[in-house]
Amino acid sequence: MSANLPSLQGKVAIITGASRGIGRAIAQELASYGASIVVNYASSSAAADSLVAEITAAGGEAIALQADVSQIDQVEALFNAVIDKYKRIDILVNNAGITRDTLLLRMKPEDWQAVINLNLTGVFLCTRAASKVMLKQRSGRIINIASVAGQMGNPGQANYSAAKAGVIGFTKTVAKELAPRGITVNAVSPGFITTDMTSNLNNTEEILKYIPLGRYGQPEEVAGMVRFLAADPAAAYITGQVFNVDGGMVMA
Ligand code: NAP
Repeated sequence: MSANLPSLQGKVAIITGASRGIGRAIAQELASYGASIVVNYASSSAAADSLVAEITAAGGEAIALQADVSQIDQVEALFNAVIDKYKRIDILVNNAGITRDTLLLRMKPEDWQAVINLNLTGVFLCTRAASKVMLKQRSGRIINIASVAGQMGNPGQANYSAAKAGVIGFTKTVAKELAPRGITVNAVSPGFITTDMTSNLNNTEEILKYIPLGRYGQPEEVAGMVRFLAADPAAAYITGQVFNVDGGMVMA
């Protein structure tokens, strides 16, 4: 860590869906700046444990906590466990997400509901739980991982696009509600990032035509933006914004 960069020492960060992909890179990045990391995951316990081992071996602090963040009782148990251990929550990264892609006419209600339940309702449940703690602290950073699909649409992703557009609207409203207590709420909107989520796409050549920088992004490139938004004082005056990390796909 460079001595000139802002430190997250003493901050407690919960990252949902941190066992793999973008969430894992965010956990590694925030840990490298000194934050204590809560590695939430749904089922990949070995991957979560290996991340905790990696962070602690590097001199950092981390725990792994299993919870399906689309389920209210599991979200409550997750946040209670974090408060029991660390007594505070400084950073929440709502990253956990899934896809159930198919064209509208083939989309089953359960495909729709599963994506809405995790990608949108999960963000609501975790934000509500974290904000109760942050309001008392009068400080906090909430960073929601959206998607370019929520801004520009994407055939086969009606459920996912609706959830991610919902996350963007949710981010703006909650930013206004929590601003008086010093809590910022922002969204990071990735384009196509190399993770398990995008590993099965079979139209890569077609996709690359829409990416001005001509390549997929890496999880670390999303993590850098999240770390900036978590940093004090660098991002203290930024709230209700959407930051694209997408190789130029969306230019507002
Ligand atoms: P990924 O590689 O598939 O990883 C998903 C993560 O979410 C895993 O850690 C997984 O845990 C966790 N998860 C899944 N269901 C969960 C649940 N019910 N409760 C808690 N955690 C759960 O996905 P990714 O590509 O890193 O995506 C991360 C976020 O970025 C998502 O919100 C996604 O929509 C968004 N995004 C991704 C891209 C992209 O191109 N990859 C683009 C735009 C936005 P387990 O390992 O335990 O299953």
